[in-house]
Amino acid sequence: MSFNIAIDGPAGAGKSTIAKAIAKKLQIIYVDTGAMYRAMALFMIREGVDANDAAAISDKCVEADITIGYENGEQVVYLNGENVNAYLRTEEVGNMASATSVQPAVRKKLVELQQALAAKNDCIMDGRDIGTCVLPDAQVKVYLTASSEVRAKRRFDELTAKGLECDFDKIKADIDERDYRDMNRAHSPLKQAEDAVLVDSSYMTIDEVIEKIVGMCRK
Ligand code: C5P
Repeated sequence: MSFNIAIDGPAGAGKSTIAKAIAKKLQIIYVDTGAMYRAMALFMIREGVDANDAAAISDKCVEADITIGYENGEQVVYLNGENVNAYLRTEEVGNMASATSVQPAVRKKLVELQQALAAKNDCIMDGRDIGTCVLPDAQVKVYLTASSEVRAKRRFDELTAKGLECDFDKIKADIDERDYRDMNRAHSPLKQAEDAVLVDSSYMTIDEVIEKIVGMCRK
């Protein structure tokens, strides 16, 4: 049986940074499920599908073949055979992913892919519904969060460091909106699994969070 770590939490809590570092430390693979939902969103944007058109999203998602691979230890997402990693991290794609991921047809397709990966590989997988739906039997489950103020500030600093103009209030409003949608959708809403350990990273360093989770794995 493979060893699986599930990390869930809201946008900007640091899940991917932490999960990547732990994967490296424990020599297991990192599965970024948000990137799969983002690839699906990119497909919908390219196809001109409206974010609120549930029927069109359900119809169209069967045409999107999403697979993942690894190049130099980094997860690569392929959309109908094309490496789309370079297009996934924009706010536009993130917001579209939050809107399209409410559709059961989209979730069913991507959850199957995630479960197959976890069955075959020791992995750390991050997302919104990993501990609750995708990997209910994961050996370690973490719910990683931070206040929305802190999360918006981290995102603001990241963009500013890249030399990009941005507005703190707008970033915080986007984060609050995404949290609300992710936590209140009918299918697989974001919530802490009953057996997940809550880690609030608001006042912790990245290394402290990593150590805490690695410690849980060693137990
Ligand atoms: O984590 P990331 O910001 O890349 O995720 C983008 C969006 O994809 C989230 O806002 C969420 O709506 C959706 N998502 C999801 N289930 C997951 C991972 C991501 O619904 N397991």
